[in-house]
Amino acid sequence: MSTVEQQLDDLKAEITSELPNDISVSSVKYEGPELVVYTRDPKEFAQQGDLIRKLASKLRKRITVRPDPSVLSRPDEAREQITNVIPEEAGVTDLDFHADTGEVVIEAEKPGMVIGRHGSTLRDITKSVGWTPEVVRTPPIESSTVSNVRSFLKQERDDRRDILERVGRQIHREEMSDDEYVRITTLGCCREVGRASFILSTPETRILIDCGDKPGAEGEVPYLHAPEAFGAGAQTIDAVVLTHAHLDHSAFIPLLFKYGYDGPIYCTEPTRDLMGLLTLDYLDVASKEGRAPPYESEMVREAIKHCIPLEYGDVTDIAPDVKLTFHNAGHILGSAVSHFHIGDGLYNVAFSGDIHYDDTRLFNGAVNDFPRVETLVLESTYGGRNDYQTDQEDSERKLVDVINEAHDRDGKVLIPAFAVGRSQEIMLVLEEAMRSGKIPEMPVHLDGMIWEATAIHTTYPEYLRDDLRDRIFHEDENPFLAEQFNHIDAGEEERQDVADGGPCIILSTSGMVTGGPIMSWLSHLGPDPDSSLVFVGYQAQGTLGRRIQNGWDEIPTSEVGAAGNGGGRGTLSLNMNVETVDGFSGHADRAGLENFVKTMNPRPEKVLCVHGDERSTQDLSSALYHDYNMRTFAPKNLETFRFL
Ligand SMILES: [Zn+2]
Repeated sequence: MSTVEQQLDDLKAEITSELPNDISVSSVKYEGPELVVYTRDPKEFAQQGDLIRKLASKLRKRITVRPDPSVLSRPDEAREQITNVIPEEAGVTDLDFHADTGEVVIEAEKPGMVIGRHGSTLRDITKSVGWTPEVVRTPPIESSTVSNVRSFLKQERDDRRDILERVGRQIHREEMSDDEYVRITTLGCCREVGRASFILSTPETRILIDCGDKPGAEGEVPYLHAPEAFGAGAQTIDAVVLTHAHLDHSAFIPLLFKYGYDGPIYCTEPTRDLMGLLTLDYLDVASKEGRAPPYESEMVREAIKHCIPLEYGDVTDIAPDVKLTFHNAGHILGSAVSHFHIGDGLYNVAFSGDIHYDDTRLFNGAVNDFPRVETLVLESTYGGRNDYQTDQEDSERKLVDVINEAHDRDGKVLIPAFAVGRSQEIMLVLEEAMRSGKIPEMPVHLDGMIWEATAIHTTYPEYLRDDLRDRIFHEDENPFLAEQFNHIDAGEEERQDVADGGPCIILSTSGMVTGGPIMSWLSHLGPDPDSSLVFVGYQAQGTLGRRIQNGWDEIPTSEVGAAGNGGGRGTLSLNMNVETVDGFSGHADRAGLENFVKTMNPRPEKVLCVHGDERSTQDLSSALYHDYNMRTFAPKNLETFRFL
């Protein structure tokens, strides 16, 4: 008998002995990090409200209880009873029964009302029908991404359970080594922004953290073939952890499956959906620009199928010797500071991913409170000595001024923005400015994937800042549903109409002017001296955005693509006012990064400054060393650090 089976037998015996006599356990299984307990007495189980929580804390495992398929009531009967239990105001839009696992997925407009106080309504459902309810939110704005991901996962449910069972056995396998060490190898994003990727390794386990592209340098992949990474074969990686969905962290996650990786990806639920959206778009842009895509869309689906979503604060076993916990990073929807607890109290490492330390309109600020941390791997995008951003109020005032000036000239305002994060932040600023009369009411056109990304935000309000979340819960106050927002969904024709029309604001991807509909907008509006181009986000070196910011006003039409209307000799003259309004970044500035470290509890012993250009990482590294007397590093790519 294998050790995992022995373990499960022991667990079954232990659980049985903990339960009252009238509750039986028919089997226990691992599914990913979870321990699933099947019982013939689901109703009795549900009657004892606290039982699952007590078991979970006793066994130190995440526990799910499911009815043994032999005792399930018929779906049509169950449907009626469930509808009676759930209050009508919950707005149930779909019930989906899975007889093989005894689960019923309930899609509702107000999931909180299906859950009830401390899960009381969920328990009432099980008490009445025996099925195990699982609740998801009906997106307030229809999102094709969310519905595609959900229906894909439904269709692949069997496959997915096989994957989860396999992953579960991997996680709970016996530890093989008596050796003790913790190493981090840098595979990218060191002394550069982009292509984030690291390997965290112990004698037992190897974990890949992030796998992104480098904006403005297509083809620069992280050093995946390093011996510490895929050099020893894709199967030697136990788990992939994705901090957030931005392409410079996620673009090559699907590529891993092409290399033969077949294990789990841990991320938050919104990160999973956003990764699907952004990587599919990445393939689309590559093919439109005539570049060979590095992988096929099939690989994106593989990646989604292998995602194991975790919520902030869930402590989760992801290997025999590693526990992972995500915390809010304040950067984009679902972004996570990833905390790894290694061994039994042996060592703790936190990877910041990208962070924003202060609250923004969209998110609460990054969490920097942990039970223990010895080493912090810290982003340094704005780590340079002078990388201070204007505070948010001043930034908003400046944006309002720029918009009013363009409006007075009868011009338009074009804002290149990342679809995910900055766009929604700017939408909130504009909505408020119009509501309070700081700028005139005018249409705000959203182009590229901004509308779709916004729909995903409204699907997961739990991940947004407290007061914004509350507004979204009240339908009529949802700021993203304000009437001035218009989704450009009819392509070039609609853009031409907008370009020919009156004053307006246009938010368009890509955020660094490296492709996408922004190119078409530039060709329409570039020659117009009354209009303004406003940068609100970081422009990486090598991107067209950075070059325009630096004063480029003759853009080769090859850059703006076929839509370019030419300024003679194959160039487009850029006559727009070019403005930069900083302070809307999703990244902490220098002060924010220092505050994150200074107020971190506990203070880490070592800090690796990564994900910033050479100067930023070195400046931040030396400042943290001098000010806080900790060991700091600004590693290059392909360095390995041994801790312990
Ligand atoms: Zn990011």
